Amino acid sequence: MRRETTRTALLVLVAALTLGAQDRRQRVAQAAEAMREALIAQRRDFHMHPELSNREERTSRVIAERLRRLGLDEVRTGVSRYGVVALLKGARPGPVVALRADMDALPIEETLDVPYRSRNPGVKHACGHDVHMTVALGVAEVLSRLRGEFPGAVKFLFQPAEEGAPEGEESGAAQMIREGALENPRPSAIFAFHVDPMLEVGKIGYVAGPALASSDTFRIRVVGQRVHAAWPHQGIDPIVVAAECILALQTVRSRRLDPVEPMVLSIGSIRGGNRSNILADEVVLEGTLRTHNEAVRERAMALVREIVSGVAGAHGARAEVSWSPRSIPVTANDRELTLACLPSLKRTLGDANVVEARPVMGAEDFSFYQRQIPGVMFWLGVGNASRGIRAALHTPEFDVDEESITVGVKAMANLLLDYLEGAVKR
Ligand SMILES: [Zn+2]
Ligand SMILES: [Zn+2]
Repeated sequence: MRRETTRTALLVLVAALTLGAQDRRQRVAQAAEAMREALIAQRRDFHMHPELSNREERTSRVIAERLRRLGLDEVRTGVSRYGVVALLKGARPGPVVALRADMDALPIEETLDVPYRSRNPGVKHACGHDVHMTVALGVAEVLSRLRGEFPGAVKFLFQPAEEGAPEGEESGAAQMIREGALENPRPSAIFAFHVDPMLEVGKIGYVAGPALASSDTFRIRVVGQRVHAAWPHQGIDPIVVAAECILALQTVRSRRLDPVEPMVLSIGSIRGGNRSNILADEVVLEGTLRTHNEAVRERAMALVREIVSGVAGAHGARAEVSWSPRSIPVTANDRELTLACLPSLKRTLGDANVVEARPVMGAEDFSFYQRQIPGVMFWLGVGNASRGIRAALHTPEFDVDEESITVGVKAMANLLLDYLEGAVKR
């Protein structure tokens, strides 16, 4: 009898919690729908006023003003130049969770003929960061209306310079962390969206594990000896040596690393020589290395050095390899946390709209946060095949289906609430 009573009480409690969560989901959905026009207008405002990395002055101002109007508890500006960190406290103590949105645009001329086209010549939000910011502001608004109902706090990180700061300047996520973005209070998890034009609007994609690659830039300088091109034996031709280096480097992928490990080694630039009848004195090659695994990354870096110096030495030339200090680690989504998020996302969007995605070789500096705390970056579908919205990220034609904004707000607001209430556990 006693056991029965306990069982019934438990069932009632579970039902109440489920009903409560359902009711809250409805209210989140209603709030997001009511904000639809305002959110689209906000995104268009960002889109019309794109700013380059570490130059996000207006963007930062707009965000800080909005967050203050929403009554967030702390709105800290000037973090890593134009970054904004804000805290929204719930009704009682509890966990802290973070949401990150990046702010910068790209040096790309807009070719879309739309009323909200970029008003900043040569600059465009071609990586969807205007959508990321708008979704985060939408989430802040929805949660600020529900603040009496959840425990803990949500930390909003608006981060500049994800695409890389100008030479000599500190950049993005790493600098945000150095300036304390993850302290006082320290979140126990961090989430983010990145738009994906290949994924249909309404859908969210996930990868439980390495999702984006590490990125390292290298420079190879092949030093020869300049001489008349008709007397090549009296000098050392770095162009021939560079050509051999390029081909030999292909064996890093094909012969030296485990074939099932993702890795890309690309030379994107080659410069050397200035006349048809003079051998060059040096050739400079620049390229990028992408991996999904730290051990593979280190091995590939060592192999580049070994191969290049070996090839150069075999021909009496000299080669120097230098790696940019601006290295981005693998964006490795925490596996358990990613899987724990799926029920929440599916309840908001429906099972069919939460899809497993393939890892890619692009890079994202969200990875720096993931080195500090468990984090997951989801893909937010912004494509729409029937409307022809399919252009790739970082192209002049890049476009998004703006319906993705309310989808993102609903999914993320519910995910954060579920996390704070302990329904999303690692
Ligand atoms: Zn980008
Ligand atoms: Zn991006």
